Amino acid sequence: MTGIAPMTSRERVLAALAGEPVDRTPVCNPTSVATVELMDLVDAPFPNANREGELMARLAATSYTELDFDAIMPVFSIIQESSALGCKMQWEQKDNWPTVRMKEPIWRTADDIRIPNDFLTHQDTVCVLDAIRGLRKEFGDEVAIVGKTMGPWSLAYHCFGVEPFLLLSLDDPGKTKLVLDRLKEATIQFGQAQIDVGVDALTLPDHATGDLVSGEYYERYLKNIHKEFSERLDIPLILHICGRTVDRMPFIAETGMAAFHYDSKNEPGESMEAVHGGIRLVGNINNPETLFAKGTDAVREEVYANLDAGVQLIAPECAIPLQTSIENLLEIPKAVRDWHANHPQVH
Ligand SMILES: [Zn+2]
Repeated sequence: MTGIAPMTSRERVLAALAGEPVDRTPVCNPTSVATVELMDLVDAPFPNANREGELMARLAATSYTELDFDAIMPVFSIIQESSALGCKMQWEQKDNWPTVRMKEPIWRTADDIRIPNDFLTHQDTVCVLDAIRGLRKEFGDEVAIVGKTMGPWSLAYHCFGVEPFLLLSLDDPGKTKLVLDRLKEATIQFGQAQIDVGVDALTLPDHATGDLVSGEYYERYLKNIHKEFSERLDIPLILHICGRTVDRMPFIAETGMAAFHYDSKNEPGESMEAVHGGIRLVGNINNPETLFAKGTDAVREEVYANLDAGVQLIAPECAIPLQTSIENLLEIPKAVRDWHANHPQVH
């Protein structure tokens, strides 16, 4: 159709992340698409699917086997490495996300930061490494396997508490930079460990979100660290930041990361303009309204809006609500295929 030989899902995702031609736009989930329905289907429920590699892999595989997405992403939560760093955890039940108890921070100053010796042998990091190994063995090279390593801004929220860390960032830029500098080694270590067991790409969430942090903050505190991640982690990186981020997209485009996973609070067209070809975009189907509460027509409309704007990879904007219907998720790859059938010259 496009004059490009049919690709495997893995080839399609990797080509799109590299900005190369694809046979069709990949549906790639950089964050979780696990749902309660899928947990029941394969008998791999939360919280154990966040703590045991075999269950994690089984639940994650459904994005490829059941939903027809081009990627498998086993790291559903944002707390695996925080647990290994020693944060107090709330594991919750099947229908709820595990969280860090941020009201009980483990550190107060940069001097408290210590990456434990068992950071990569802790149950909650080992679980991720086991899942990736298992998925690679099961699926070989047919599908992209995406891992996740949290950035230092997010880790600081977990280890210091959101409010104390944001206050520090206002009061003392020097100490804030010191905290980020020390925490970034955890990002590197966990990312490298996942590369070593065979992931194709890494999502790197770093929650300098639009509602809490300005674009100027992003440039001051994070741009250079994110650049450093691109240099030190030798694999395509997908930065994830929620919320309205158009003001920082030009900076994000200069980090050398492969793609930016962007939120529906940003229009596809203005976002493509803001990154100006410096980085690929992946997104941005709305979760709480569209995927969770609306029907397939609304899902299709948002997929088309992204494809019309030239967005290179299609995905939900963030980890989807656990109660999202399978029907709405299946509509994403269907809509992508239909769009390409009507735009045969685009690839
Ligand atoms: Zn998010």
